[in-house]
Amino acid sequence: MEERKVENRFQFYNTLSRKVETVIPHEDGKIAMYTCGPTVYHYAHIGNLRSYIMEDVLEKSLRYVGYEVKRVMNVTDVGHLSSDADTGEDKMLKGAKREHKTVMEIARFYTDAFFSDCEKLNIKRPDVVEPATHCIPEFIHMIEVLLEKGYAYVAGGNVYFDTSKLDEYYVFSSQSEKELLVGVREDVEEDVNKRNKNDFVLWFTKSKFEDQALKWESPWGVGYPGWHIECSCIGIKHLGEYMDIHCGGVDNIFPHHTNEIAQSESYLGHPWCPYWFHVNHLNDKAGKMSKSKGDFLTVSLLEEKGYDPIAYRLFCLQSHYRKPLEFSFEALDNMSAAYRKLVKRIAELKEEGAVDEAVCAAYRERFAGALSDDLNTSMAVTIVYDLLKEETNGATKLSLLRDFDRVLSLNLTTAQTAEETDVDEELAAYVEAKIAERAAAKKEKDFARADAIRDELAARGVVLKDTREGVVWSRA
Ligand code: AMP
Ligand code: ZN
Repeated sequence: MEERKVENRFQFYNTLSRKVETVIPHEDGKIAMYTCGPTVYHYAHIGNLRSYIMEDVLEKSLRYVGYEVKRVMNVTDVGHLSSDADTGEDKMLKGAKREHKTVMEIARFYTDAFFSDCEKLNIKRPDVVEPATHCIPEFIHMIEVLLEKGYAYVAGGNVYFDTSKLDEYYVFSSQSEKELLVGVREDVEEDVNKRNKNDFVLWFTKSKFEDQALKWESPWGVGYPGWHIECSCIGIKHLGEYMDIHCGGVDNIFPHHTNEIAQSESYLGHPWCPYWFHVNHLNDKAGKMSKSKGDFLTVSLLEEKGYDPIAYRLFCLQSHYRKPLEFSFEALDNMSAAYRKLVKRIAELKEEGAVDEAVCAAYRERFAGALSDDLNTSMAVTIVYDLLKEETNGATKLSLLRDFDRVLSLNLTTAQTAEETDVDEELAAYVEAKIAERAAAKKEKDFARADAIRDELAARGVVLKDTREGVVWSRA
């Protein structure tokens, strides 16, 4: 295929400007992208993963249209309290108590679980993944600078960011303060040390939670960082003083991203990130899916119920990232059936004919156009269906499908179809029966028969291996 032309009219809805805008990166052809990572005190639910799927599509789309992308993600393993307004218990500590493990054990376990879920959903691992606990000296440095510049104060032992020092605090929204605070402060008591009600903690020392497991020395006493400081600091550490795109779910807009901007720009002394990409929530019938609600849906649960996680990825791609999406098993059943049908149709294509470059160029342009149009993923999927109906040869279709799958990541040309799985099951039953027959022959000391069975299987492309745990087989 010929080199793809660089498409630089990539647009999406920028929460900061409240408009769909063309992305113009601070360095030509390169995008510095930051994603708020998971708080690793529990499994990610499929709502969290909706955000990560759509951010993955954003990153891959930017690469598709020709940008070089550096993507950084934090892992929150300290400092995120039950309420985003800095009250309640540290979520990590809550997880550790729940499972009678140490905080670091919990962090390790759920970080691995998160990346394993991402792999199942074909979500690419960001170029840099940084746990908050690896950056304590950098957080301390940033807080020192904020104190020196007069943007922070110490009260009751904690260090707070002083929001009254800013010209503008509510950068994201024209909503009233009251509206913004709904859901953030419910059922939690006010922190009397705060000078202004939106001030937030940069460093906790005199916390009322004496059993906080992770503590570090700091100029203000032994303690631990607040949640918001980690994303500012990790972003600046790996992407420098300017980043292009910052992403997260819509619940991160306030207070988390608002506070990130406040402290980053006060620290840097200039604007920080011009484009903010937010994914709307996955809801169930009872409302927003959340980890603190007892039962929540995980990728493993979907698998246990027999769903291919990629069908869930397709479910997400079929709706626009800015709209709330309601999950139901009925909807997922329909999507799974559609997905099976789609990959079956693709599996029937033959690599025949010469790739038609003119058809490829036209389709690639349409596909890039859909992605550049505020990440219109359902249109991108429609283009896949249009291609299947197109009057062109199999080689052209397959070549384009592989190309599109660099963004969609739906295993379009590699998924096992239902028929293939059935064949595998049939073969497995046959091989298992033959292995049992061979074991019986060996027991009878009929080695000629045992060898004959091995040869018979070899003729069908199955290789047997005798191990301490028994006989294992594989396809040659
Ligand atoms: P957390 O692990 O709670 O820090 O959240 C990880 C990411 O998931 C953040 O970007 C959240 O904004 C996002 N998120 C949380 N709940 C949902 C939901 N129900 N639907 C979509 N994204 C969500
Ligand atoms: Zn963050």
